[in-house]
Amino acid sequence: MKVYLLDNGTLMLDKSLATWNHNQGIEFRFPVFAVFIDHPDGKIMLDTGFDKDWVERKLPFEKPTQTADQTIEAQLAKIGVKPEEIDIVVNSHLHFDHCSANKLFPQAKFIFSRSELRHSFVPDPWEKLGYDPDLVNIPGMKTELIDIGDYEYEIASGVSAILTPGHSNGHLSFIVRPGDGHQPLVFPVDVAYTRHNLENKVLMGLHSDPEDLLRSMHKVENIAKKIGGKIFFSHDPEEYTTYKLAPEYYGG
Ligand SMILES: [Zn+2]
Repeated sequence: MKVYLLDNGTLMLDKSLATWNHNQGIEFRFPVFAVFIDHPDGKIMLDTGFDKDWVERKLPFEKPTQTADQTIEAQLAKIGVKPEEIDIVVNSHLHFDHCSANKLFPQAKFIFSRSELRHSFVPDPWEKLGYDPDLVNIPGMKTELIDIGDYEYEIASGVSAILTPGHSNGHLSFIVRPGDGHQPLVFPVDVAYTRHNLENKVLMGLHSDPEDLLRSMHKVENIAKKIGGKIFFSHDPEEYTTYKLAPEYYGG
């Protein structure tokens, strides 16, 4: 199995939304990426990034940057994959920067965390900013709703999801074990935007439940330690410069 990080551009937030109650008034520009897995049993997308036009229309203060080369379609083309070849899409959660290219894959099976899907349609008042049901609802799409509690849900052999609520209500993180002696890969996704968030247990300002988020941080960190996994942070400008991006890949 080959695991590709698809570079999707950058967004901007006030830094206090990444470090709760700290750093107000400081601009925080951060990378966004999606993950594509070329798996012997099928082609899998974990998250699908953001759409620059949508952000400029709905949340212009996030000042998106995304070149023509950084759309999900262009990133897949770089490795010779057409959108219609994707078999499975799993969204960690349904904030716009993790699901906006879902519409490219109408033939795929979509696996959603049940509570996350419900929250995306009827968010709590403080959660409205990140959600838009129009990004999620694709007429005629095949869906599987999962409610995985405390077990590890296998998406495909060596690719699994765990429930890690707190940033959003039904948030999922991903664990990928490429096998053949390759190091396991752990994607907390928005359990921790940055290494600083995870290592120092600094919660992001954006969360649905701070206690749940803290528990999810411990959970992901513990699993990564146990399996010797490399952790990829979802929105860490410094760490990101060290990641291999498509067409390079992890696993093999
Ligand atoms: Zn998010």
